[in-house]
Amino acid sequence: MTVIFLKYKHRIKNGELNFPVSLPGNLKRSKEPKIPELAEMEVIRHFDRLARKNYSVDFGFYPLGSCTMKYNPRLNEELASLEGFISLHPLQPEETCQGILKLAKKLEEFLCLISGLDAVTLQPAAGAHGELTGMLIVRKYHTEKGNPRKYVLIPDSAHGTNPASVTLAGYETVEIKSNEEGLVDIEDLKSKISEEVAAFMITNPNTLGLFESNIKKIADLLHEKDILLYMDGANLNALLGITRPGDAGVDILHFNLHKTFSTPHGAGGPGSGPLGVKKHLEKYLPVPRIVEKDGTLRLSYDFPHSIGKVHTFYGHPSVWVRAFAYILRIGKENLREIAEFSILNANYLRKKLEKFFENPYPHRPSMHEFVLSAENIKKKYGVRALDIAKRLLDYNFHAPTMYFPLIVKEALMIEPTETESIETLDEFAEVVEKIINEIKENPEIVKNAPHNTPCKRLNEAKANRELDVRYNFNE
Ligand SMILES: *Cc1c(COP(=O)(O)O)cnc(C)c1O
Repeated sequence: MTVIFLKYKHRIKNGELNFPVSLPGNLKRSKEPKIPELAEMEVIRHFDRLARKNYSVDFGFYPLGSCTMKYNPRLNEELASLEGFISLHPLQPEETCQGILKLAKKLEEFLCLISGLDAVTLQPAAGAHGELTGMLIVRKYHTEKGNPRKYVLIPDSAHGTNPASVTLAGYETVEIKSNEEGLVDIEDLKSKISEEVAAFMITNPNTLGLFESNIKKIADLLHEKDILLYMDGANLNALLGITRPGDAGVDILHFNLHKTFSTPHGAGGPGSGPLGVKKHLEKYLPVPRIVEKDGTLRLSYDFPHSIGKVHTFYGHPSVWVRAFAYILRIGKENLREIAEFSILNANYLRKKLEKFFENPYPHRPSMHEFVLSAENIKKKYGVRALDIAKRLLDYNFHAPTMYFPLIVKEALMIEPTETESIETLDEFAEVVEKIINEIKENPEIVKNAPHNTPCKRLNEAKANRELDVRYNFNE
């Protein structure tokens, strides 16, 4: 009840809640809405049928590169639905929610330990939001030094959210080329470093699934000119317990809790994109921050250099609970195995699939994902990466990520994750081989795929261009 009273404080008159509130006449409907009248059973069948049309990690293999669609242990769900967590309200007095604050504080500490950074905020709602928060910190840091600077450098293999965040924070993106090995071209980087560059935004392992082994050298080059090194930590899966970005000179990094630390995600949420920084940037982190005062945890706004708030409340606690449970259950000693198995699985599957496609960057072993090119298939048979992805759906596999990173033609980006068994990976490779044989014998089958799914080939852009999610009562 405390919760409701706080939220509707302004509605309390003489100690009574003044409900229901009546709407002014001009806002009321003149006619009853035409809501479908159905029995409970019909409703249940309708939704159950709809659910069966869906694809999910719980149903089958989801090799969607960059997204880390690993299995999410049910234990996390159970803990996130504990009564104490689900009945929390963001306006609750701090004394009444010490549990979640303690969990949050501890999770911040875990993330510091894992990343080698000194302070973490859990406020950003997802990875891209973490990036924007990071870029606002970059701006504040340079502004306080007298010049916000103009440019942020980004490799040509970067995720689309990187330049978007840079732009939103008021910077201009300057692209850095990748070399033949698929890593940052150091000469190109050197030629673009100047006093007007605010930060370099790098992803490591990069989106080709390759480890940027020059990361320390890059950090040193940048720091000579007081340029901050931002790392997109979406691929942290591959580094857990093996190496720490902070030790390599990274100043700012976002985590994707929903990817690395397991929360069911996709189709828009939920997510959580905590941001970690080195000591010299801590004072800029968004408020409120969790601080301990006289044995009680409090949300403090007393950080005069802070960039301010980036979220209405404090972030997405239900995702924190899942990540916290996941880390605790795996244990500090075993986190490394997540990375090792994700790397092993990626390299295993890469070797199997390299027989069928081109590998534009074959020189180095992969980390947790790899990118192949179907350009050879397109040239010889006129069948595209998109067609192959669609045909995979007919065989009950989710499609890989396609046409990203942009530097690879007809890209197929595959991330098996550490939770898939060798049997599943073998089965996937066999199905790919089957599809390659179909292409040789009768390419039309693949070009017109999918054949077995509830919807056939959709217009890829229409739903975005003409978004309409209303139920039309009058139709
Ligand atoms: C997923 C991802 C992002 C964006 O993260 P969201 O949580 O989806 O906002 C950024 N960079 C890379 C490399 C990613 O894989």
